[in-house]
Amino acid sequence: AVVITSLGCPFRCTYCASSFLWNGFFSRDSVRTAEYIEFLIETKHLSDVVFFDDAILVGNGFKELMREIQNRRIGTRFHLPNGVHARFLDMETAGLMFENNFKTIKIGLETSDPALQNATGGKVSSRDFYQAIQNLSEAGFTSREVSAYIMMNLPGQSEKDILNSLEVCEELGVNPSVNEFTPIPGTAQWKDLVDRGMFNEEIDPLLLDNSILPHWWEGGFSLKTVQRLKEAAWSLRRKLSGE
Ligand code: SF4
Repeated sequence: AVVITSLGCPFRCTYCASSFLWNGFFSRDSVRTAEYIEFLIETKHLSDVVFFDDAILVGNGFKELMREIQNRRIGTRFHLPNGVHARFLDMETAGLMFENNFKTIKIGLETSDPALQNATGGKVSSRDFYQAIQNLSEAGFTSREVSAYIMMNLPGQSEKDILNSLEVCEELGVNPSVNEFTPIPGTAQWKDLVDRGMFNEEIDPLLLDNSILPHWWEGGFSLKTVQRLKEAAWSLRRKLSGE
């Protein structure tokens, strides 16, 4: 089952549509969410629960929910595939995740370039990322469960930046998960690209899809570069999994 414990995000990353979709950040009551998860597991006999929040670690709701789940002895597998905030992944959170049987934890690194981290909204610093991975590792997680989102083709991003992010992942034993940037209509990044004449605001959004963008867009990486970087990420994943 997919479960959402909160809506929206208090951050305003330039490439993200969350603030566009939700006018604020709203958390659901942790006890009621735990009751709902328990109900789902008992009635549907589920083995896996996937959280799809944009900002699940913001506030105290996640820790409260984890304690509720622990008290209720809900023995299922949990997954966080949506990229959590490294800066909120403290030792207590990591421990609660481990005790509650989390099997997928994706963390948003996005870029390892401090200037680009700040320019895109400042949601993460490399220091936050290192600390979060250390906390997860001390709690007992390995590269089997933990991976990092890395953005590729952000305006102003260099190929070197992605290679640096892959090096950080290799150093920490974290699987890289490379995401290709697509300009989402209405976001700050999209407006900036329109203002700079990179494309017209009437453009068919299909042309901005990541499978098409590198074929025509001169503002970013060529198809060859995208492919080379994807292969570097796949190669690192194979290396970390011992293949
Ligand atoms: S932190 Fe994540 S959900 Fe929030 S605005 Fe940034 S990318 Fe979007």
